[in-house]
Amino acid sequence: MKNKIKLLDNNLINKIAAGEVIDRPSSILKELIENSIDADAKSIDIYIHRDKIDMFHISDDGVGISKNDLRIAFDRHATSKITDTNDLEKITSFGFRGEALSSIAAISDVKLTSSRNSKGGDRIHIRFGKEISLEPSPSSEGTSISIENIFNNVPARKKFLKTNKTEYNHNISVINRFLLAHPTILFRLYIGNKLKHTYLPSDLFIRITEVYNITQSSNLTQIESSNNFCKIYGYVGDFDFISPSSAKQHIFVNNRYINDLGINKIIKSCYIGGLYPIYNPFYIIFIDVP
Ligand code: ADP
Ligand code: MG
Repeated sequence: MKNKIKLLDNNLINKIAAGEVIDRPSSILKELIENSIDADAKSIDIYIHRDKIDMFHISDDGVGISKNDLRIAFDRHATSKITDTNDLEKITSFGFRGEALSSIAAISDVKLTSSRNSKGGDRIHIRFGKEISLEPSPSSEGTSISIENIFNNVPARKKFLKTNKTEYNHNISVINRFLLAHPTILFRLYIGNKLKHTYLPSDLFIRITEVYNITQSSNLTQIESSNNFCKIYGYVGDFDFISPSSAKQHIFVNNRYINDLGINKIIKSCYIGGLYPIYNPFYIIFIDVP
Protein backbone atom coordinates (compact mmCIF):
# COMPACT_ATOMS: atom_id res chain seq x y z
CA MET A 1 0.00 0.00 0.00
CA LYS A 2 1.48 3.27 -1.13
CA ASN A 3 -1.05 5.62 0.42
CA LYS A 4 -0.87 6.86 3.99
CA ILE A 5 -3.86 6.29 6.27
CA LYS A 6 -5.91 9.45 6.69
CA LEU A 7 -9.21 10.45 8.24
CA LEU A 8 -11.95 11.02 5.66
CA ASP A 9 -13.48 14.48 5.57
CA ASN A 10 -16.91 14.97 7.15
CA ASN A 11 -18.70 15.37 3.87
CA LEU A 12 -17.46 12.01 2.64
CA ILE A 13 -18.15 10.34 6.00
CA ASN A 14 -21.77 11.53 5.83
CA LYS A 15 -22.12 10.37 2.26
CA ILE A 16 -20.92 6.89 3.18
CA ALA A 17 -23.11 6.82 6.30
CA ALA A 18 -26.13 7.83 4.21
CA GLY A 19 -25.90 4.43 2.56
CA GLU A 20 -26.95 2.82 5.85
CA VAL A 21 -29.84 5.13 6.73
CA ILE A 22 -31.25 5.72 3.26
CA ASP A 23 -31.67 2.82 0.92
CA ARG A 24 -34.36 4.44 -1.22
CA PRO A 25 -36.39 7.68 -1.28
CA SER A 26 -39.10 6.24 0.97
CA SER A 27 -36.49 5.89 3.77
CA ILE A 28 -36.17 9.68 3.69
CA LEU A 29 -39.92 10.05 3.94
CA LYS A 30 -39.93 7.71 6.95
CA GLU A 31 -37.19 9.67 8.73
CA LEU A 32 -38.90 13.02 8.10
CA ILE A 33 -42.33 11.90 9.30
CA GLU A 34 -40.73 10.36 12.39
CA ASN A 35 -39.03 13.67 13.11
CA SER A 36 -42.36 15.50 12.86
CA ILE A 37 -44.01 13.03 15.23
CA ASP A 38 -41.06 13.27 17.65
CA ALA A 39 -41.57 17.06 17.55
CA ASP A 40 -45.12 16.51 18.89
CA ALA A 41 -46.77 17.64 15.68
CA LYS A 42 -50.57 17.58 15.77
CA SER A 43 -50.77 18.11 12.05
CA ILE A 44 -48.45 16.95 9.26
CA ASP A 45 -48.66 17.82 5.55
CA ILE A 46 -46.96 15.40 3.17
CA TYR A 47 -46.26 16.25 -0.48
CA ILE A 48 -45.17 13.48 -2.83
CA HIS A 49 -45.26 13.02 -6.60
CA ARG A 50 -46.22 10.12 -8.78
CA ASP A 51 -43.81 10.96 -11.58
CA LYS A 52 -41.00 12.61 -9.62
CA ILE A 53 -39.78 10.27 -6.94
CA ASP A 54 -36.66 12.21 -6.04
CA MET A 55 -38.46 15.02 -4.21
CA PHE A 56 -40.65 15.46 -1.10
CA HIS A 57 -41.99 18.18 1.06
CA ILE A 58 -43.15 17.74 4.66
CA SER A 59 -44.39 20.40 7.00
CA ASP A 60 -45.48 20.10 10.59
CA ASP A 61 -46.75 22.22 13.48
CA GLY A 62 -44.33 20.68 15.96
CA VAL A 63 -41.96 22.36 18.42
CA GLY A 64 -39.63 23.67 15.71
CA ILE A 65 -35.86 24.14 15.73
CA SER A 66 -34.22 27.32 17.01
CA LYS A 67 -31.85 29.30 14.81
CA ASN A 68 -28.88 28.23 16.93
CA ASP A 69 -29.74 24.58 16.46
CA LEU A 70 -30.39 24.68 12.72
CA ARG A 71 -26.81 23.98 11.65
CA ILE A 72 -26.16 21.50 14.46
CA ALA A 73 -29.26 19.49 13.51
CA PHE A 74 -27.46 18.56 10.30
CA ASP A 75 -24.30 17.38 12.06
CA ARG A 76 -23.79 13.67 12.35
CA HIS A 77 -24.85 12.21 15.75
CA ALA A 78 -26.57 15.49 16.67
CA THR A 79 -29.82 14.83 18.50
CA SER A 80 -32.04 16.52 21.05
CA LYS A 81 -33.60 13.19 22.04
CA ILE A 82 -31.00 11.55 24.28
CA THR A 83 -28.09 12.88 26.30
CA ASP A 84 -26.44 9.95 28.09
CA THR A 85 -26.19 6.16 28.10
CA ASN A 86 -29.02 5.81 30.64
CA ASP A 87 -31.37 7.42 28.14
CA LEU A 88 -30.82 4.45 25.81
CA GLU A 89 -32.83 2.33 28.28
CA LYS A 90 -35.90 4.55 28.08
CA ILE A 91 -36.28 5.77 24.54
CA THR A 92 -39.74 7.06 23.76
CA SER A 93 -38.97 8.87 20.51
CA PHE A 94 -38.53 7.35 17.06
CA GLY A 95 -35.15 9.00 16.52
CA PHE A 96 -32.20 9.09 18.91
CA ARG A 97 -29.11 8.47 16.74
CA GLY A 98 -28.99 11.87 15.12
CA GLU A 99 -28.12 10.44 11.74
CA ALA A 100 -31.09 11.15 9.52
CA LEU A 101 -30.70 14.85 8.67
CA SER A 102 -26.94 14.59 8.11
CA SER A 103 -27.41 11.57 5.87
CA ILE A 104 -30.29 13.10 3.90
CA ALA A 105 -28.38 16.36 3.40
CA ALA A 106 -25.32 14.43 2.18
CA ILE A 107 -27.18 12.99 -0.80
CA SER A 108 -29.82 15.62 -1.68
CA ASP A 109 -30.73 19.27 -1.85
CA VAL A 110 -32.43 20.23 1.43
CA LYS A 111 -34.23 23.41 2.42
CA LEU A 112 -35.45 23.45 6.00
CA THR A 113 -37.46 26.31 7.48
CA SER A 114 -38.33 26.27 11.14
CA SER A 115 -39.66 28.40 13.93
CA ARG A 116 -40.24 27.86 17.62
CA ASN A 117 -42.86 30.61 17.77
CA SER A 118 -45.17 32.45 15.42
CA LYS A 119 -42.81 35.46 15.09
CA GLY A 120 -40.93 34.13 12.07
CA GLY A 121 -38.12 31.69 11.71
CA ASP A 122 -35.00 30.75 9.82
CA ARG A 123 -34.18 28.78 6.75
CA ILE A 124 -31.14 26.69 6.03
CA HIS A 125 -30.24 25.40 2.58
CA ILE A 126 -27.79 22.51 2.28
CA ARG A 127 -26.90 20.96 -1.05
CA PHE A 128 -25.07 17.61 -1.12
CA GLY A 129 -23.53 18.24 2.30
CA LYS A 130 -22.50 21.88 1.70
CA GLU A 131 -24.26 24.77 3.37
CA ILE A 132 -25.55 27.21 0.75
CA SER A 133 -27.33 29.69 3.02
CA LEU A 134 -28.80 30.32 6.45
CA GLU A 135 -31.14 33.29 6.70
CA PRO A 136 -34.25 34.58 8.45
CA SER A 137 -37.48 33.46 6.81
CA PRO A 138 -41.20 33.87 7.45
CA SER A 139 -42.52 30.77 9.17
CA SER A 140 -45.31 29.74 11.44
CA GLU A 141 -44.51 27.57 14.44
CA GLY A 142 -43.15 24.23 13.27
CA THR A 143 -40.85 22.86 10.64
CA SER A 144 -41.07 22.60 6.92
CA ILE A 145 -38.55 20.63 4.88
CA SER A 146 -38.14 20.25 1.12
CA ILE A 147 -35.95 17.56 -0.38
CA GLU A 148 -34.94 17.53 -4.05
CA ASN A 149 -32.49 15.74 -6.32
CA ILE A 150 -32.17 12.69 -4.10
CA PHE A 151 -29.00 10.71 -4.98
CA ASN A 152 -28.00 13.18 -7.72
CA ASN A 153 -24.44 13.20 -6.36
CA VAL A 154 -24.39 9.40 -6.00
CA PRO A 155 -25.14 8.19 -9.54
CA ALA A 156 -24.57 4.56 -8.55
CA ARG A 157 -27.44 4.78 -6.04
CA LYS A 158 -29.71 6.68 -8.41
CA LYS A 159 -29.19 4.00 -11.03
CA PHE A 160 -30.41 1.31 -8.65
CA LEU A 161 -33.76 2.97 -8.00
CA LYS A 162 -36.68 1.01 -9.37
CA THR A 163 -39.38 2.43 -11.63
CA ASN A 164 -41.27 5.53 -10.54
CA LYS A 165 -44.29 3.33 -9.89
CA THR A 166 -42.40 0.99 -7.55
CA GLU A 167 -40.76 3.82 -5.61
CA TYR A 168 -44.11 5.62 -5.42
CA ASN A 169 -45.71 2.48 -3.98
CA HIS A 170 -42.96 2.30 -1.35
CA ASN A 171 -43.74 5.90 -0.44
CA ILE A 172 -47.44 5.12 -0.06
CA SER A 173 -46.67 2.08 2.12
CA VAL A 174 -44.51 4.19 4.40
CA ILE A 175 -47.21 6.89 4.64
CA ASN A 176 -49.94 4.33 5.35
CA ARG A 177 -47.95 2.93 8.27
CA PHE A 178 -47.82 6.34 9.91
CA LEU A 179 -51.48 7.05 9.17
CA LEU A 180 -52.43 3.79 10.91
CA ALA A 181 -50.07 4.11 13.87
CA HIS A 182 -51.04 7.74 14.60
CA PRO A 183 -54.79 8.15 14.12
CA THR A 184 -54.90 11.14 16.47
CA ILE A 185 -52.59 13.18 14.22
CA LEU A 186 -54.10 15.13 11.34
CA PHE A 187 -52.39 14.27 8.06
CA ARG A 188 -52.89 15.98 4.71
CA LEU A 189 -51.60 14.03 1.75
CA TYR A 190 -50.79 15.98 -1.41
CA ILE A 191 -49.94 14.12 -4.59
CA GLY A 192 -48.53 16.23 -7.41
CA ASN A 193 -49.39 19.34 -5.35
CA LYS A 194 -53.08 18.42 -5.28
CA LEU A 195 -54.68 17.66 -1.93
CA LYS A 196 -55.60 14.00 -2.19
CA HIS A 197 -56.96 13.39 1.29
CA THR A 198 -57.27 14.97 4.71
CA TYR A 199 -57.09 12.41 7.48
CA LEU A 200 -58.77 14.11 10.40
CA PRO A 201 -57.76 13.15 13.94
CA SER A 202 -59.80 10.08 14.80
CA ASP A 203 -59.55 6.63 16.31
CA LEU A 204 -57.85 3.55 14.92
CA PHE A 205 -61.02 2.04 13.51
CA ILE A 206 -62.03 5.11 11.50
CA ARG A 207 -58.43 5.65 10.36
CA ILE A 208 -58.24 2.06 9.04
CA THR A 209 -61.48 2.44 7.08
CA GLU A 210 -60.19 5.73 5.61
CA VAL A 211 -56.75 4.43 4.67
CA TYR A 212 -58.16 1.36 2.93
CA ASN A 213 -61.45 2.80 1.75
CA ILE A 214 -63.35 0.10 3.62
CA THR A 215 -67.12 0.24 3.45
CA GLN A 216 -68.12 -3.12 4.95
CA SER A 217 -66.51 -2.32 8.27
CA SER A 218 -68.48 -5.10 9.97
CA ASN A 219 -65.94 -7.45 8.43
CA LEU A 220 -63.27 -6.03 10.72
CA THR A 221 -62.99 -7.61 14.16
CA GLN A 222 -61.50 -5.76 17.07
CA ILE A 223 -59.01 -7.70 19.16
CA GLU A 224 -57.59 -6.88 22.55
CA SER A 225 -55.63 -8.89 25.05
CA SER A 226 -53.19 -8.03 27.78
CA ASN A 227 -51.21 -9.40 30.67
CA ASN A 228 -48.69 -7.93 33.11
CA PHE A 229 -46.07 -7.80 30.42
CA CYS A 230 -47.72 -6.68 27.23
CA LYS A 231 -50.83 -5.48 25.52
CA ILE A 232 -51.96 -6.62 22.09
CA TYR A 233 -54.77 -4.85 20.26
CA GLY A 234 -55.98 -3.88 16.84
CA TYR A 235 -58.22 -5.13 14.06
CA VAL A 236 -58.25 -8.24 11.93
CA GLY A 237 -60.18 -8.73 8.72
CA ASP A 238 -62.33 -11.74 7.90
CA PHE A 239 -62.00 -13.88 4.78
CA ASP A 240 -63.46 -11.13 2.58
CA PHE A 241 -60.25 -9.18 3.13
CA ILE A 242 -57.70 -11.82 2.13
CA SER A 243 -55.55 -10.85 -0.80
CA PRO A 244 -52.58 -12.13 -2.80
CA SER A 245 -50.49 -9.23 -1.52
CA SER A 246 -49.11 -8.90 1.97
CA ALA A 247 -49.37 -5.09 1.86
CA LYS A 248 -52.22 -5.02 4.37
CA GLN A 249 -50.44 -6.83 7.17
CA HIS A 250 -49.20 -4.51 9.81
CA ILE A 251 -47.55 -5.20 13.12
CA PHE A 252 -46.46 -2.28 15.26
CA VAL A 253 -44.33 -2.73 18.37
CA ASN A 254 -44.66 0.34 20.59
CA ASN A 255 -46.06 2.13 17.53
CA ARG A 256 -43.06 1.29 15.34
CA TYR A 257 -43.82 -0.70 12.22
CA ILE A 258 -42.02 -4.03 12.16
CA ASN A 259 -41.97 -6.90 9.70
CA ASP A 260 -41.56 -10.26 11.39
CA LEU A 261 -42.05 -13.40 9.35
CA GLY A 262 -42.55 -15.51 12.50
CA ILE A 263 -45.43 -13.39 13.78
CA ASN A 264 -46.97 -13.24 10.30
CA LYS A 265 -46.85 -17.02 10.09
CA ILE A 266 -48.55 -17.48 13.46
CA ILE A 267 -51.36 -15.11 12.51
CA LYS A 268 -51.80 -16.77 9.15
CA SER A 269 -52.06 -20.17 10.83
CA CYS A 270 -55.14 -18.92 12.71
CA TYR A 271 -56.94 -18.58 9.39
CA ILE A 272 -56.16 -22.11 8.23
CA GLY A 273 -59.14 -23.92 6.89
CA GLY A 274 -60.52 -21.17 4.74
CA LEU A 275 -57.32 -19.72 3.36
CA TYR A 276 -55.34 -20.84 0.37
CA PRO A 277 -51.67 -20.88 1.33
CA ILE A 278 -50.68 -18.02 -0.95
CA TYR A 279 -53.34 -15.64 0.31
CA ASN A 280 -52.71 -13.14 3.04
CA PRO A 281 -55.04 -12.06 5.80
CA PHE A 282 -55.64 -8.40 6.67
CA TYR A 283 -54.50 -7.23 10.08
CA ILE A 284 -53.36 -4.13 11.89
CA ILE A 285 -52.01 -5.26 15.24
CA PHE A 286 -50.27 -3.25 17.93
CA ILE A 287 -48.03 -4.86 20.52
CA ASP A 288 -47.10 -2.65 23.46
CA VAL A 289 -44.23 -3.86 25.64
CA PRO A 290 -41.97 -2.18 28.22
P1 ADP B 1 -32.78 12.14 15.54
O1 ADP B 1 -34.21 12.15 15.09
O2 ADP B 1 -32.22 10.75 15.68
O3 ADP B 1 -32.54 12.99 16.76
P2 ADP B 1 -32.29 13.60 13.06
O4 ADP B 1 -31.06 13.74 12.25
O5 ADP B 1 -33.48 12.96 12.44
O6 ADP B 1 -31.88 12.79 14.37
O7 ADP B 1 -32.69 15.03 13.60
C1 ADP B 1 -31.72 15.79 14.34
C2 ADP B 1 -32.40 16.74 15.31
O8 ADP B 1 -33.06 17.78 14.55
C3 ADP B 1 -33.50 16.13 16.14
O9 ADP B 1 -32.99 15.52 17.33
C4 ADP B 1 -34.40 17.32 16.44
O10 ADP B 1 -33.91 18.05 17.53
C5 ADP B 1 -34.26 18.19 15.20
N1 ADP B 1 -35.39 18.00 14.26
C6 ADP B 1 -35.39 17.30 13.10
N2 ADP B 1 -36.59 17.35 12.49
C7 ADP B 1 -37.38 18.12 13.28
C8 ADP B 1 -38.76 18.56 13.21
N3 ADP B 1 -39.56 18.24 12.19
N4 ADP B 1 -39.21 19.35 14.22
C9 ADP B 1 -38.42 19.70 15.26
N5 ADP B 1 -37.13 19.31 15.39
C10 ADP B 1 -36.61 18.53 14.41
MG1 MG C 1 -34.88 11.55 13.25
